[in-house]
Amino acid sequence: MFDHSQAEPEQKRAKLEIRDLHKSFGALDVLKGVSLDAHDHDVISILGASGSGKSTFLRCINFLEMPTRGSIALNGETIRTRLSPQGQQEPADGRQIERVRARLAMVFQSFNLWSHMTLLENIIEGPIHVLGLGRKEAIERAEALLAKVGLHDRKTYYPAFLSGGQQQRGAIARALAMEPEIMLFDEPTSALDPELVGEVLNIIRALAEEGRTMIIVTHEIAFAREASNRVVFLRDGEIEEQGAPESVMAHPTSPHFERFLARAR
Ligand code: ADP
Ligand code: MG
Repeated sequence: MFDHSQAEPEQKRAKLEIRDLHKSFGALDVLKGVSLDAHDHDVISILGASGSGKSTFLRCINFLEMPTRGSIALNGETIRTRLSPQGQQEPADGRQIERVRARLAMVFQSFNLWSHMTLLENIIEGPIHVLGLGRKEAIERAEALLAKVGLHDRKTYYPAFLSGGQQQRGAIARALAMEPEIMLFDEPTSALDPELVGEVLNIIRALAEEGRTMIIVTHEIAFAREASNRVVFLRDGEIEEQGAPESVMAHPTSPHFERFLARAR
């Protein structure tokens, strides 16, 4: 695992600061004041029962959902929001949101490669159109990333001709191509056949060892324990327990977390 003792001193400002985040859908309060800091090289696993708000939390971090209340800052820059005339939060500055979003890459449960493009085209699309890279450079970088996720020989394939594990590894390569500062994973292995889970977890584990900053929603308890330096247990839209995996997973203080872990075993 990445050696966190060699990382920059703790007092350094967090890369991502989430404060008192609330999200409601109508009368349904899904997030009820979640605060979380992610520092450089943190690998944070988010655990919790289905419906506890894990996906909503990730989606709020990159503003796929607008938080109802609370604040998010990336590298000390708070994302500014305002109230619309209808009383809904909305971005105060669309360009700021775009900029922030480009620095956070999300990998979804359902792979989400574009089906009408080859794997290589999927990966160069963002770098060319969002980062403004030349085609030649984008292709060079994409090929290196495909090699990294073990898919170099599949670059001309369309997603439909790849296994779920290959598609998800491709989706990870596509996220990496954007050179994100933080990677967000929403149950990246939940849609995979069991025999394909390992190949995707191995890639994510390798990214953790490189020191990438990641927030991973997962049901893979063993993976969370070994690959992350912090686990967060979300229950009914609140953080019920968090800490280093070796302590909180071995000795959970919350009976709900204890039961969650026991059931997952
Ligand atoms: P998890 O990822 O932990 O399973 P979610 O964040 O997907 O949980 O969902 C938390 C709760 O929010 C659920 O009750 C879900 O039905 C509700 N929810 C999620 N998205 C929406 C939405 N767009 N509109 C209404 N309710 C939603
Ligand atoms: Mg979810």
